[in-house]
Amino acid sequence: MEFASHMDRALHQARLAAGRGEVPVGAVLIAPDGSVLSEAGNRTRESCDPTAHAEILAIREACALLGQERLAGHDLYVTLEPCPMCAAAISFARIRRLYYGAADPKSGGVAHGARVFTHPQCHHAPEVYDGLAEAESAALLRAFFEARRG
Ligand SMILES: [Zn+2]
Repeated sequence: MEFASHMDRALHQARLAAGRGEVPVGAVLIAPDGSVLSEAGNRTRESCDPTAHAEILAIREACALLGQERLAGHDLYVTLEPCPMCAAAISFARIRRLYYGAADPKSGGVAHGARVFTHPQCHHAPEVYDGLAEAESAALLRAFFEARRG
């Protein structure tokens, strides 16, 4: 199942991020032909960069690879509901479909908070599919934050 495997890949990136001491979020960008164009996990601590979220890194890499600023026809898989910054970047990049895992009532910007794609200033909204591998995505985050508290 192509569907599941992309989310598995995003989860793998999230686990790698956890291994680096980063918040475990992973993202995979899929080209219109179904191939993986780029993949990334959070690197905010390593890069000393508050914008180094998985989605931003995957979008940057894909755009650099293609030499273009937009990714029309491309799909993004993320383990967690994107924050407002990433949702805006997804809109700017003209991503076709967004698939995400766990909902993020605290910091999400798609179904919560700013709800970027429903804002009148949003010029492009992707099709959104949520709840993919939700349990695994949420469990990773929970384990990470519990370990940090402990
Ligand atoms: Zn983000």
